[in-house]
Amino acid sequence: MNNAEVIVIGAGIVGAACADALSERGLRVAVIEQDIAGGGATAAGMGHLVVMDDNAAELALSAYSLSLWKDLVGDRPQRHEYSGCGTIWVAADEEEMEAALVKAQTLCGHGLLCEVLTPAALYAREPQLRAGLAGGLLVRGDGLVYPPKTTRILLDRAMRRGAITKRAQVTAIEDHAVVLGDGTRHQAQHIVLAAGVRSSVLLPELPIQAKKGHLAITDRYPGFVKHQLVELGYIKSAHAASGDSVAFNLQPRPTGQILIGSSRQFDTIDPAVEPAMLQRMLRHAASFTPQLKELNVLRTWTGFRAATPDGLPLIGPSSARRGLWLATGHEGLGITTSLATAQLLAGQIQKEKTRIPYVPYLPGRFHG
Ligand SMILES: Cc1cc2nc3c(=O)[nH]c(=O)nc-3n(C[C@H](O)[C@H](O)[C@H](O)COP(=O)(O)OP(=O)(O)OC[C@H]3O[C@@H](n4cnc5c(N)ncnc54)[C@H](O)[C@@H]3O)c2cc1C
Repeated sequence: MNNAEVIVIGAGIVGAACADALSERGLRVAVIEQDIAGGGATAAGMGHLVVMDDNAAELALSAYSLSLWKDLVGDRPQRHEYSGCGTIWVAADEEEMEAALVKAQTLCGHGLLCEVLTPAALYAREPQLRAGLAGGLLVRGDGLVYPPKTTRILLDRAMRRGAITKRAQVTAIEDHAVVLGDGTRHQAQHIVLAAGVRSSVLLPELPIQAKKGHLAITDRYPGFVKHQLVELGYIKSAHAASGDSVAFNLQPRPTGQILIGSSRQFDTIDPAVEPAMLQRMLRHAASFTPQLKELNVLRTWTGFRAATPDGLPLIGPSSARRGLWLATGHEGLGITTSLATAQLLAGQIQKEKTRIPYVPYLPGRFHG
């Protein structure tokens, strides 16, 4: 621990990806995790690998990360429980169909494979969808993984290169050092804060707000749906800066189970499942796929997204302490963007040229 060049705080998928990328560059890495690796938001999320295009920076980061996921998964998709199911963005009405066409243009312009679906083409692919929808957009390169498993794979790879992991709670960050719960102080040239939504416990000045989400998973119904189905209205819900909202988001797990999302709530840090919110989310999902009502829900849970004011993560140096780097604030897209985050962070630490510009994600954008 004491000869580490980099200490990574947090072994969620972002911390694990950073440990992997930094150890690949020959740095001596120590990862400190207070709980179970991959057991935070990483275990709570849907694991949807999705290109998002609300702005150019989000598109660049998610598309770059998707390409890194393809390399990581390679020819062993089952290790990550990966499925290249693609996403169908479902348009409920003509206004949303317009949004689908704009999205198609943006994604195709970025070299991504997508296909505009007429209602007939939509129902041919997904017969469970309710009648009367306006069509959709199929994004072929999207997929899904089981994030805790990938987290383990990344950490193991880092450990084979000499990285170490320690189970402890970091209670304070100092210049080039961390203090642990037992009072010991550990120094390193670089400290990487990758503690997800709890990053602001260690650094209260961070512009991070918790956004609670509910999910539900059913028993096994293989083939019920074949793609990740998301309503185009999701985008409005995902970017609301206040209030509670739900959106239709259905995922076919490789096990045959159906993972049902999603909800967003601010102003609460209570992890309890809220029956009213859960019911609202499930009703909304069933309004798109009516047969969903007949399926058995096995388990429900909640998780917290670490949201920043502009929806982009914080990747880069922090002026709060010397030697401190941030890799946090990934909101609802951190499984997707974890791998690109790690490359951008490691590239900055090692002063390398990065594949995409890192400037849009620099933490300094919030305090000059
Ligand atoms: C309901 C929901 C659905 C989602 N769906 C998707 C999706 O489909 N696709 C997608 O791309 N993203 C999704 N996300 C977002 C994604 O899950 C997160 O962005 C991502 O997991 C963040 O990873 P992380 O490593 O930053 O955080 P975490 O996984 O929370 O990891 C942080 C780790 O730091 C540890 N830690 C915290 N404080 C300390 C401390 N003081 N000392 C030591 N260790 C500490 C924690 O124990 C934890 O293990 C979803 C999130 C939610 C909540």
